[in-house]
Amino acid sequence: MRIPFDNSYAKLPSQMFTPQLPTPVKAPQIIATNTELATLLGIDPAELASADAAQVFAGNHIPDGAAPLAQVYAGHQFGNWNPQLGDGRAVLLGEVVGSDGIRRDIQLKGAGPTPYSRSGDGRAWLGPVMREYLVSEAMHALGVPTTRALAAVTTGERVLREEILPGAVITRVARSHIRVGTFQFFASRGDMAALAALTDHVIARHYPDATGPAELLDQVIARYAALIAKWMGLGFIHGVMNTDNVAIAGETIDYGPCAFIDDFHPDSVFSAIDQYGRYAYSNQPGIGAWNMAQFATALIPLMPDRDAAIEAFTAAVHRFPVIYDAEWLKVFGAKLGIAEPVDDDRALITDLLDLMAKDGADFSNTFAHLGTDTARDQFLDRAGFDAWAMRWNLRKAANAAEIMGKANPQIIPRNHQIEAVIAAGRTGDMAPFHTLLAAVTAPYAPLTEATAPFARAPSKGEAVTRTFCGT
Ligand code: AMP
Ligand code: MG
Repeated sequence: MRIPFDNSYAKLPSQMFTPQLPTPVKAPQIIATNTELATLLGIDPAELASADAAQVFAGNHIPDGAAPLAQVYAGHQFGNWNPQLGDGRAVLLGEVVGSDGIRRDIQLKGAGPTPYSRSGDGRAWLGPVMREYLVSEAMHALGVPTTRALAAVTTGERVLREEILPGAVITRVARSHIRVGTFQFFASRGDMAALAALTDHVIARHYPDATGPAELLDQVIARYAALIAKWMGLGFIHGVMNTDNVAIAGETIDYGPCAFIDDFHPDSVFSAIDQYGRYAYSNQPGIGAWNMAQFATALIPLMPDRDAAIEAFTAAVHRFPVIYDAEWLKVFGAKLGIAEPVDDDRALITDLLDLMAKDGADFSNTFAHLGTDTARDQFLDRAGFDAWAMRWNLRKAANAAEIMGKANPQIIPRNHQIEAVIAAGRTGDMAPFHTLLAAVTAPYAPLTEATAPFARAPSKGEAVTRTFCGT
């Protein structure tokens, strides 16, 4: 298989990574490949079906031009500082510049141990690989910046978690895998050479019009605030917003315990390890600002006048909620079919969300069907909803349906559907995975007989309210 590698991270100072080959696996078999993404990356889609493809996507065969490595980083995990993390089960094969001119990483996740594996085995099991493939591709189709999935393979090997499970590898594509935690690693060690080189690399690669760390910070804050506003508009809960899972390019990364809300409640938490609800739905914007404060802190050592930088960077972080609020208004304004939302519209939006929370209305279906009985039926308090709908009718644009059609997906990857597909996958039946993938990657298309089942909210018995990293 030919991949047109053009690597840049591998040329950065050597303390920023460790050269690392993937560990071969016994019997790789392709689960899925992404033709559209392969084409964008300059890979001939015809080669995705070759026997070599399974070997490449499993890490058994290293294609020409790759410079495999594991990146080092640190991070705050659930608020606690961890001075040493890194790619513990991922290997960066290299980078390609796509037909859109954008440089992207190609990484194998689940590729075996690295110097950063700590006590982990470097492997992934099939469940999280299927989840990441489905949800990251759904997010892309929903219009949310995200890492993507180029391929997934089973390894023919078993991994041991609480039980024995089938192993798998996902090929992840990202604008880069550089995180807030990458900056934190070098800042915390006082490694100025690496910190400066990393900053230059990130500016050149992701923020070319930033003139230095201060502008970089401003622009990262703006992208991250917009990203979180998009999550909120979809009822998406990331679940593990640790600083090592904040991609500096502003993409959603790490689909471990993520979930889309079914019946709406702002305090929703899915992740089994998020005991205190730190990463609950409604906490996401606040955590976003906290994460940007950590990024700002990591940039301070680069600034000649420390006190002035602290003052300026504090002000920059305080702009996060302002930018976020503006983005949130745009996102939810569109969901209500308001052409140009203004501050006065905030109450209309939050009043609906309050009604939804009170009655546990299905988040996606309420918005997707606003104006019909399907939405009204989500509410027990019909009088309350009708009063709200009168206000909304007076405010929404003449072309509301058109605006709303692009803002309110018919289909999101619901947790119970993902779990069902994983259960089938464990028995070797991948057909449900492909059916669900097709549905969630056309989220704004009108429902058909084939896709309608995926739009239905789970019944009480079907709902899956817990997600596990299970990595
Ligand atoms: P995550 O929770 O996925 O963000 O991972 C946190 C850290 O744990 C990262 O440094 C990962 O590389 C590492 N890690 C997670 N699972 C494994 C595993 N199975 N083997 C080795 N390292 C792992
Ligand atoms: Mg991670």
